[in-house]
Amino acid sequence: GAAVAIASVSPATGEVLKTFDPMPEDRIDAALDRAMGGFDKVRHLSFKERGEWMRALADLLDDERDEIAALMTTEMGKTLAAAKAEVTKCAYACRFYAGRSAGFLADEPADPAAVGAHLAYAHYQPLGPVLAIMPWNFPLWQVMRFAAPALMAGNVGLLKHASNVPQTALRLEDLFKRAGFPEGAFQTLLIGSDAVERVLTDDRVRAATLTGSEAAGRSVAAIAGRALKKTVLELGGSDPFVVMPSADLDRAAQVAATSRCLNNGQSCISAKRFIVHADAYDAFAEAFVGRMSAMTLGDPMASDTDVGPLATEQGRTDVEEQVADAREKGARVLCGGERPDRPGWWYPPTVVAGITPEMRMWSEEVFGPVAGLYKVGSYDEAVAVANDTTFGLGANAWTTDPGEQEQFVADLESGQVFLNGMTTSYPELPFGGVKNSGYGRELSAHGIREFCNLKTVWVA
Ligand code: NAP
Repeated sequence: GAAVAIASVSPATGEVLKTFDPMPEDRIDAALDRAMGGFDKVRHLSFKERGEWMRALADLLDDERDEIAALMTTEMGKTLAAAKAEVTKCAYACRFYAGRSAGFLADEPADPAAVGAHLAYAHYQPLGPVLAIMPWNFPLWQVMRFAAPALMAGNVGLLKHASNVPQTALRLEDLFKRAGFPEGAFQTLLIGSDAVERVLTDDRVRAATLTGSEAAGRSVAAIAGRALKKTVLELGGSDPFVVMPSADLDRAAQVAATSRCLNNGQSCISAKRFIVHADAYDAFAEAFVGRMSAMTLGDPMASDTDVGPLATEQGRTDVEEQVADAREKGARVLCGGERPDRPGWWYPPTVVAGITPEMRMWSEEVFGPVAGLYKVGSYDEAVAVANDTTFGLGANAWTTDPGEQEQFVADLESGQVFLNGMTTSYPELPFGGVKNSGYGRELSAHGIREFCNLKTVWVA
C-alpha cells in the first residue's frame, strides 16, 4: 500500500504522540554494511556464546517488563495485562532457543556406505542478513519469534516494523544492543513499506520474513521471487471454531469469547467464525453472547479492562463497514455493533448471526472483536463451512467424540488444529498456515531451520 507516516498515535484518544522521519538512503546503506559486519562476527561464534546474549536479553525483558508493556499499550492499545504477558512470553522464547538451538541444528549423519563415502552428513549454516517485516498487533512477540531462532542460528536481523509502533521498534534494537549482541546483529530500519523493495533487492540481504496482511505478503513474495530470495509468510486468518453436540458448551463459549476478544480482536489466530451444530446452537449462542456482552470495553491501562481500542482508525473503519454490510444483507446483530461516542478507535465485542456467502464477513478476515455465528446441520456441513475460506491458519474444534476428533484433524484445511482448547502459539510447536495464510513455519525446530543453508557434506 501507500506509505503511511511513521508515528505513535494513541488509539485510546487519537492523539499524535510522536512522529519520526523515515531513514534516508545513506543511513539504510550504512545499516546494511553494519549487518554484513555483524553477520561476519555472529556466524563464527558458538551456540554457547550466542545463547549467553539471548539469556541476557531474556533477563532485560523480565527486568523491564512493565515499562516495555506500557510502551506497547500506548502505541497500539492492547491491555496492559496482555502486554505484560507478551513480554514474559518473549523472555521464555529467548531462553527456549538459547537452550535448544544447538540440538535443533545438530549435524544430521547419513549412512556413509550407502553413498560411497567415509563420512556424510547434513550441516546447518546461517544465510546472512534477514529482513523482517512485522505487524503492530503483537509488536514484541512477532519480532522475537523470528529473531530468537534466527540469531541463534547465526543470522542477523533487519527489522522493518509497522509504521505505528516506531518506539517499540527502537526499544527492541536497544534491548539487543544492551544484551551484548555485536553491532549489526539486530537493527531497526525506520522505513515505510515503499522502501521495502530497495532493501529486499539489495545483495546484502539474503532472505525475508513477513507477518501481516495477504496484500503485503503477495507484494513481498513477488519482489523476493524476482530476486530469488527465500521468504517465510505469516499472513491473515479467518479461523473456524466448530462446536459439536458432545462438546462442553460452557467451556467452549468461554474460550470462544476469550479467543475472539484477545488483543482487542486483532490476532491472526483468534477464532473468527463460530460454526455450531444445530443441536448445540441455542445453548452455545446464549452462553457466547452472554460472555461477549459481559466484556468490559475501556482504558487499556486499567486492570479491569478486557477490551481496549482498535489500533488504528482505518482498522476500526474496516470492521464497521464489514458489520454494516452484513446488516444490510440481512444478518442479525446479537450484541454490540455500535461504536461508542468517544475519541479513539473503539469498537465493542459484537456477535453477528445469519452470515451468508454474499456478505463480506463470510469470506473476509474481520480484524476486530466481531464474531460471525453459523448454524450447521451435520459434521460434513460444519467442515464445508469451515473450509470455505481462502485462508488456512488455525482451526479450533470442540467435540469429545474420538472419531470426530480424528476426522477434524484430517479434514480441516489449516496449519494447526486445536481440539477442545484455545489456539495459541508455543515455542515448542510449529506455527504457520496453508492457502492464503502463507507458507513456511516459525517456532520449534522447524522455525529455526527456515533461515539456514542445509549443506550436504560428503567426504571420501
Ligand atoms: P499489514 O498492513 O500487512 O502490515 C504488516 C507489515 O507489512 C507492516 O510492517 C507494514 O508496514 C508492512 N507492509 C504493508 N504493506 C506492505 C507492502 N506492500 N510491502 C511491504 N511491506 C508492507 O498488516 P496489518 O493489516 O497492519 O496487520 C494485520 C494483518 O496481519 C492481519 O491480516 C493479520 O491476520 C496478520 N497477522 C498474521 C499473523 C500470522 O502469524 N500469520 C500474525 C499477526 C498478524 P507499514 O506499517 O509501514 O504499512
